Order: sequence, then C-alpha cells, then structure tokens
Amino acid sequence: MSVQYRPQIKDLVPYKPGKPIEDVKRKYELTEVIKLASNENPLGASPKAQKAIMSILNNLNLYPDGNCTDLRAVIAKKLSLSINQILPSSGSDEMIDQIAKTFLNDGDEVILADVTFPRYLTTTKMMGAVPVIVPLNNFTYDLVAMKKAITTKTRLIWLCNPNNPTGTMFTEKMLIDFLDFVPKNVVVVYDEAYNEYVTRDDFPKDSIKLLDTYPNILILRTFSKIYGLAALRVGYTLASEGILANINRIRGPFNVNTAAQVAAIAALSDDDFLKKSFDVNLEGKEYLYSAFKKLGIWYAPSETNHIFIDVKKDCQKVFESLQRKGMIIRPMYKTYIRVSIGTMEQNRLFITTLSEILHPCGKE
Ligand SMILES: *Cc1c(COP(=O)(O)O)cnc(C)c1O
Repeated sequence: MSVQYRPQIKDLVPYKPGKPIEDVKRKYELTEVIKLASNENPLGASPKAQKAIMSILNNLNLYPDGNCTDLRAVIAKKLSLSINQILPSSGSDEMIDQIAKTFLNDGDEVILADVTFPRYLTTTKMMGAVPVIVPLNNFTYDLVAMKKAITTKTRLIWLCNPNNPTGTMFTEKMLIDFLDFVPKNVVVVYDEAYNEYVTRDDFPKDSIKLLDTYPNILILRTFSKIYGLAALRVGYTLASEGILANINRIRGPFNVNTAAQVAAIAALSDDDFLKKSFDVNLEGKEYLYSAFKKLGIWYAPSETNHIFIDVKKDCQKVFESLQRKGMIIRPMYKTYIRVSIGTMEQNRLFITTLSEILHPCGKE
C-alpha cells in the first residue's frame, strides 16, 4: 500500500531557480561569481526599505497584519483606487497560484503563450485545466492567434507584458483590441512584473484605467524586480472588488510577512532609488546591445531588465562554460540564453567572458 497523489501533479516539474552564487563558488572553486540569472536588481534594495525592516526587530513574535492594511492604503492612495481593489501576496508567484485555485476546474481551457513565465503552465496543469498553448510570433506575444484560440470552454488567459524571458512587449492598442474581443466571462491575467523598465511610449503605461472598462482583468505587479525586494516575497494584484473578495476566500491568513509589508511601503516612497535603477538598467541595456552587435549576436529588443540572445551554440554548453568562469546566466532552449542586465561592471565582465567562450581564438 502506498500514498496516492493527485493525477494532475504527475507531469509537473519542480521549478528550476537560477543557480545560487555559493553553489557555483564551491563547485568551481571560484572566489568571484556574478549572477545575471534571475532578473534581480543589481543595485540591491532601497536604503529606505532596509531601514524599515530594522524597525520591526522588536515585533518578530507578532503575526503580520493579515489584511496588509497600511500597504494597501499606500498603494490605493498612489493609484487612486479603492483599498478593496488591491490584494498583496507573497510575491506574484503566490498570486498566480491563488488565481488558478480560484477560477480553474478540471477540463477548463486556459490560453497561454510559449515561451513565457513558466508558472502559468504549472498552475494551469495543477488544477487539471487544459493548457492551450499559442506560440510567440517573432519572439512576441501573438494576440491575434490568442484571440483565435478562444472557445466556449476558455476560462482564463495569461498575458505577460513585457514578456519574460524574451523581454518583448505588445502595445496598448493591441491590448485594448484584444480585451474588447475577449468575452467578459473569461478571466484575463495581465502580469506586468517589468512595467517600470519600459521605455516605449506605445506600451499600456496607464494599465490601471483598464479596470474601469474590463471587469474580467487582473493586473499583477511585484516588488521583486525594480524595487529589489525579491528575498521578501511581496507583490500585489489590482482587480475588481468582486474578484478580489473571491480570491480572499482561499488566501492563507498571514501570507505577506511583516518585513515584506514595511519594506514595500518604504520602497514605494523611494523615487530616487527607482529612478537610479531605471537609469542603470537603460545604460546597461544600451551597452549590451552595442556589444552584441559587435559580436554578431542577435538579441530580442527588450523593455525589461533582461535580454534574450542567440549564442548560436547549445545553450546548456554555453551556460556551463560561463559558469566555470564565474558567470551565471539562464539557458533557455536551443541556442537561446537570457541574461539579466547588471551593473556596468558586471555587464562588461559578462561581455568579456562571453566573447572568450564564443570566440576562443580572439577572432570575431
Ligand atoms: C519575476 C516574475 C514574477 C514573480 O515575481 P515574484 O513577485 O517574485 O513572485 C511574476 N511574473 C513574471 C513575469 C516575472 O518575471
């Protein structure tokens, strides 16, 4: 006799995180290792957020505020929304799970892109729903093909804009055209984890206003990327009060910890840190673009803090060679890798190391 597992989890594969720096140091006996694998903020976190965490050390015995009252109030004020249109979570990852648990039944069709953020597929399968996978077109979300994939069984659609891992975006016009087409009983999850990095002005900069027109949309944001708080696990979702009241039924009672709540509030007030993070990212992106051009490396135009490139060699081999030299990136598939944009020093080191590997004789 043995325990029985839900059949829905049979094919799921555990998430493979970017390799920790300490593992790589030990394995290759290196002293310096740089990680450009998980789209983390290379500047660290806002000093205001760090200071805020120190203030809670005397209260570690107390449960967090399960309703995130202060954090929701700060976000509500900033975005001119009702506090009931805001629901924080332990990172967007947790919210993606909660959305799947709230809406998906066995056999429901769920539309998602390939390639995109892997958690959408995992949670869809976890609930026994049927993934309907729409390939990217030229490394960009194909909203026209996604429209065509909608049937009477479609329950939910996952969108990521700009997209991880390709860094590409779709425009406000395309998004509105899409939302106008989608039946209002179909849930649209709009994940904008990287929205703060976008430079193009045809991006849906003011996504909040979509909430007025589309009662079926959920907008996901995170403090893990430009705010540099990935270790604390905190993000938030904007949606109608009705949708969030239903997600609240399945939410764990204390899902966002106290350190995360106070740090997120402080981070929201630190415009200097945000601006500096944006500027360093943009400078790094332009440097990397020009270096890739010199090396003859194709890249997808990125509106994020990472770049998807074609190294024209098996991505796993390039990943291992880079790692041996103390550089962690993310191998994707075939000859594609994703590299997070670091500080200028890290970017330069990445380019030197990559060109050593791709052109070992010093030839270009
Ligand atoms: C990093 C990332 C998230 C997850 O963020 P957390 O808040 O750290 O869970 C969600 N969506 C996308 C597209 C991401 O790249």
